[in-house]
Amino acid sequence: MAGGGGAWHQPPSTGVWWDLNTCPVPADFDPLCVHRCIKSALHKQIRFPTTVAIYAIGNLEYISSDLLEKISSSGIVLIHAPCGGNSLIRFLYEWSDAVQDEQQRPGSGYIMLISGDSTMVNRCRLQKFSKFSKFCAYPEDVGPVTTQGEKVFVKEFVWETLLTANASPCAAMDEPLCICEICDVVYKTCNDFITHLKSEQHRETLFGIVPLDYGKPRYFCPVCNYPAYDEFNMSLHNESKDHNHKLADKEQDCESRKRNPQVDLFNEISKKQSL
Ligand SMILES: [Zn+2]
Ligand SMILES: [Zn+2]
Repeated sequence: MAGGGGAWHQPPSTGVWWDLNTCPVPADFDPLCVHRCIKSALHKQIRFPTTVAIYAIGNLEYISSDLLEKISSSGIVLIHAPCGGNSLIRFLYEWSDAVQDEQQRPGSGYIMLISGDSTMVNRCRLQKFSKFSKFCAYPEDVGPVTTQGEKVFVKEFVWETLLTANASPCAAMDEPLCICEICDVVYKTCNDFITHLKSEQHRETLFGIVPLDYGKPRYFCPVCNYPAYDEFNMSLHNESKDHNHKLADKEQDCESRKRNPQVDLFNEISKKQSL
């Protein structure tokens, strides 16, 4: 084939952004199968081979290590990105630039958003990516996030239905790749990534990016000394096991001090002695 025909041989690229916070894996569903289900649903729509990259994004700090490991080992890239639509739009710009540099053929890429967050599935923001055909999936209990005006998506799926309709036995293992957006670090093992999310260094970075009021984080948990990026992330924190354990510990501590003040004194003395 003459004159630039080579580009036709390159499979088109598809980028999938899966918001783990608003579209979690249903309780009775095998997390290892999500990767295959998304690919299968897309292939039924696109009808010819494309290279599909799936990115699981959101606030990953409070998602169980077990689940993160399963998702990561199935070949999905993990990205801790707690800033909702702001995070997503940055990824879309980077990804679409990379795809277009590689392909030199406009209109051959696909974007899929899996989210019930209106800052992510946002018609105005997505208009900038008009060269890409777009798909979306929304959680059943939230419903379509964009309803009025011009059609943005080629097809909209219900998240839970997409999974059940495309389920097949699967356990494709892949090299894990995990990214913390706010610290700008990449990990090749899910364990290292999880350790990072719980580290002091990660929390320090978080203190540096959260919105402030008079020099103090606007959303802050004094029990855990934890700052949040916005109200949604604060509620993820407040509902987490970590937070509720700390809260229960603290309340128990206060109770025992009230009941038994001399224990308090004893603790103080032994603390001083151990110094
Ligand atoms: Zn980090
Ligand atoms: Zn807390």
